[in-house]
Amino acid sequence: MEQIPFDKRTGTIWYNGEFVDWQDAKVHVLNHGLHYGSCVFEGERIYSGKIFKSLQHSQRLHQSAQMMDFIIPYSVEQLVIAKDQLVVKQNIIDGYMRAFAWRGSEKMAISAQHNSIHVAIACWTWPPYYSAEAREKGLKLKFARYRRPAPDSAPVAAKASGLYMICTISKHEAERDGYNDALMLDYRGYLAEATGANLFLVAKNGDLHTPLADCFLNGITRQTVIELAKKRGINVVEKHILPQELSNYCDAFLTGSAAEITRINSITEDYVFAKTSKLTLDLMQDYSNLVRGL
Ligand code: PMP
Repeated sequence: MEQIPFDKRTGTIWYNGEFVDWQDAKVHVLNHGLHYGSCVFEGERIYSGKIFKSLQHSQRLHQSAQMMDFIIPYSVEQLVIAKDQLVVKQNIIDGYMRAFAWRGSEKMAISAQHNSIHVAIACWTWPPYYSAEAREKGLKLKFARYRRPAPDSAPVAAKASGLYMICTISKHEAERDGYNDALMLDYRGYLAEATGANLFLVAKNGDLHTPLADCFLNGITRQTVIELAKKRGINVVEKHILPQELSNYCDAFLTGSAAEITRINSITEDYVFAKTSKLTLDLMQDYSNLVRGL
């Protein structure tokens, strides 16, 4: 079924402190966020009418803005309240939320020290990130064309829109080649993450390994899954992992607010995870219970 494009929908958007009609949430084409990538955002999920880890997401939005050298003119508390109000206004039971901030139009040049900062929040009903088939069979990944940059090459811990251009190019290429997503290495050649989700690997001895988040987003879901695993007494190891070490693992999955916990079937044709491990199934169940407050 064809989706209604986002600029053709109806409803309410929170825009610079006010609830406005969906169709009135507009920007001028000459804005710094669009031309120079000075935009930060959050992707959050709503479960049974409640935003999961809302406070942490709004805190991260503020931190991302600071890394981009701007300050969001609404407090974390104001954003959390606005998001809750929007869920009610939009009547969302299970859905997705975007909160984002960008530099406006006063100066259209690299330097934009005093440009106004704009903030908007939108939410909508949203199904799982990957198709039912991909979730059932597990994701097929290939290696991405681009690598995650070094911390001295980009503000790697920010959830900044500019950092996603290499993700979109890599994911498009993967999809064209028949894969569900691309797995990115980092600037040193270690496994990093997928284009919009973190990576976990199940070791044959029952330990859970995940790449050290020293040059990419330390996802809120990643941190949640580490906590859930530790609660189960699973030994979680955050470390640098080389691609050729993938043969040491019996199962793998991705985590993210959008991706939730999605199992990986294979990474290229060389690394196939034939069977879902009990550990992965347990963590999926734990996560599903947690987000629904069970
Ligand atoms: N890495 C990237 C590049 C992402 O876009 C996301 C999704 N926000 C994640 C990791 C996972 O982060 P989180 O669990 O906080 O959604």
